[in-house]
Amino acid sequence: MREVLSRGAFILQRDLEHFEQNLAEYLDVNYVLGVADGTNALKLSLIAAGVESGDEVIVPSHTYVASAAAIHYVGANPVFVECGSDHLMDVDAIHDAISPKTRCLMPVQLNGRTANMDRIQAISEDTGIPIVEDSAQALGSKFKGKSAGSFGVAGTFSFYPAKVLGCFGDGGAVITNDPEVAERISLLRDHGRNEKGEVITWGTNCRLDNLQAAVLDLKLKSFDDDVARRREIARRYIDGLNQIDALVLPPGPEDDSDHFDVYQNFEIECEQRDELQAFLSAAGIGTIVQFGGKPVHMYPLGFEKTPLPKTEKLYERMLLLPMHTALSDEDIGFVIEKIRSFYAV
Ligand SMILES: *Cc1c(COP(=O)(O)O)cnc(C)c1O
Repeated sequence: MREVLSRGAFILQRDLEHFEQNLAEYLDVNYVLGVADGTNALKLSLIAAGVESGDEVIVPSHTYVASAAAIHYVGANPVFVECGSDHLMDVDAIHDAISPKTRCLMPVQLNGRTANMDRIQAISEDTGIPIVEDSAQALGSKFKGKSAGSFGVAGTFSFYPAKVLGCFGDGGAVITNDPEVAERISLLRDHGRNEKGEVITWGTNCRLDNLQAAVLDLKLKSFDDDVARRREIARRYIDGLNQIDALVLPPGPEDDSDHFDVYQNFEIECEQRDELQAFLSAAGIGTIVQFGGKPVHMYPLGFEKTPLPKTEKLYERMLLLPMHTALSDEDIGFVIEKIRSFYAV
């Protein structure tokens, strides 16, 4: 940081370029564009995908409000669908949600897992509706060896501090393999200015700070170790908890060779969720019910009242156990022991 500061290199400087190149190589994609945060990454991607006022975008309701807010702020309307047993967009629900106004599919690669993108891509190819992936929680996750974020027109990441790769504040990125989309995002994020500084289209201010990029570039070097540790923690939770009938655990790291999960979160389903959460809290163990305990379609934001029973049921049962690289094996053992004692096993 001192070195970057001494160069006075704050906006669109070489540290950002290096980070973009290194991340592109890491994810095996052609273009990475650093932007201000994950929400704006989605907004710019939707614009680049051609989403306009009055269009509809299909998105799971089990997501962060930012997925829907990005759709709202490009003038489009979110159409919410159920999630499946893996807590990701239910592929079977997509067909029924498609209307003549549908302009984009937005799968959300939640908790560090990538959806079955073969099936979502097949729908996209049949219908001509492009995909923009909200992969804010899934950097480094893969489906059949291909990186989260690389399946559609564009994919987005967030470098919010609690994300698998976090910076020292807000940050985000758009990835794409399409040179025209990359050019469009590059103009949009910097006031519509081309390399010569000439304004050639409308744009906005949405750049990733060079200092944050320098931090991220350094952290990217040890990112594989972080992911390996998260996968190890998941393995330990599963080994310690899989005999408890009252719990449904996420898939293990080696369960399905099509999926490589990075465990941004370890989201379980459990009976007596609120009691378990209070019990763990009393033992000094912090847990989270994601997204304020309500799916997005139930927020007071003027949506049509279409019930999503599977999602609503999940929200009564889901809980995030502690998952981060500062956890020791002893910490994990303690969490497991407390959960076992709650269910008296
Ligand atoms: C974190 C997150 C975002 C938004 O990212 P910010 O960088 O906080 O704007 C979007 N979608 C999902 C699923 C997220 O978890």
